[in-house]
Amino acid sequence: MPGEDVQPMGDTMWDAVERIVNTYESFLITCHVNPDGDAIGSEIALKAFLEDRDKSVVVVNPSPTPPSLAFLDPEHEIRVFPDDADAHVLDDVDAIFCLDVNTWDQLGNFARPLQQSALPRVCIDHHESPDDDFADVIASDTTSASTGILIYELIRRMDGDVSRTIADAVYTTIISDTGTFRFSNTDARVFDVAAAVCRLGADPYQLHRVVFGSKTWGAGNLLGPVLATVQAAAEGRLAWIHATREMAEAAGASYDDMDGFVDLVRAIKGVELVLFFKETVDGHIKVSLRSNGKVDAHAIAEHFGGGGHKMASGLRVDGPLGEAIDKVVNLCLQMPGIRSRLD
Ligand code: 5GP
Ligand code: MN
Repeated sequence: MPGEDVQPMGDTMWDAVERIVNTYESFLITCHVNPDGDAIGSEIALKAFLEDRDKSVVVVNPSPTPPSLAFLDPEHEIRVFPDDADAHVLDDVDAIFCLDVNTWDQLGNFARPLQQSALPRVCIDHHESPDDDFADVIASDTTSASTGILIYELIRRMDGDVSRTIADAVYTTIISDTGTFRFSNTDARVFDVAAAVCRLGADPYQLHRVVFGSKTWGAGNLLGPVLATVQAAAEGRLAWIHATREMAEAAGASYDDMDGFVDLVRAIKGVELVLFFKETVDGHIKVSLRSNGKVDAHAIAEHFGGGGHKMASGLRVDGPLGEAIDKVVNLCLQMPGIRSRLD
């Protein structure tokens, strides 16, 4: 493992992160594929903090920033691998931060160059079950609603200033990963950090409008057809919807346009678990899992090589769609909480 000496015995994980920030001068920051508000917001907040300390920072992601989050990167500084940056980008930095991601499969085709690099790697994240060799320092807190909260706490711990850029970015991480203070991860810590960044200029109404109120007509056109696919089993405890490539093309919708659809089915009374099967352009099937509390969505995702959180997880399986649905639905039907009611 590269940089094995960066976390001496007795050190806390946050001491080790601090030491890396203090020791090195230039950093590469990355996040998971199909980045969401937590991934991009965490990157922008950490970048602003490091630059405030006169460090040099490059952000390179395995996939592009969705349009609804472009406001966080007004100068278009985030690069995409391999389109805007190749593996040589790693030659010019001292250390790597992987944010809001803890498994290699979630780093897309950027995983290989990162894995082969001898640079010290730090993971700051809140997902379950990191890959063993994922980083030299894994600063993981699964009780934190967003990775951005961990970045905010790191900045405060290191006496950094919370600029308006950082405040907006951290607030975005919170509303993205808590569904704007609705999901089960919403707790006092969420409100504490949200209130703190609000006082420093983050505007809840404006940020909510930009992040969630900039849906495209493609999303509007696809919503009806996708919801019409809803099926249920186990007395309504399990429900699932799907989107084929043809449906997305006919609606003029992109992958990002499907954000939030699954939550509409999750809101139906009695539903314990919702699955959203999305056919991707490469023919794989991406499945989003959302639990209402009784079913461990992470355990199901992990079974198929995916991951995430207990309440919100994801996985990828081979097509065709019908077979993917049968395979995942059949496993879910065996789960406690679906097979029989858990009270
Ligand atoms: P979503 O369904 O919104 O894509 O993802 C829900 C959660 O599960 C997110 O925290 C996301 O990072 C995680 N997740 C989604 N897909 C995968 C996957 O294929 N592998 C892993 N390890 N995590 C995933
Ligand atoms: Mn997150």
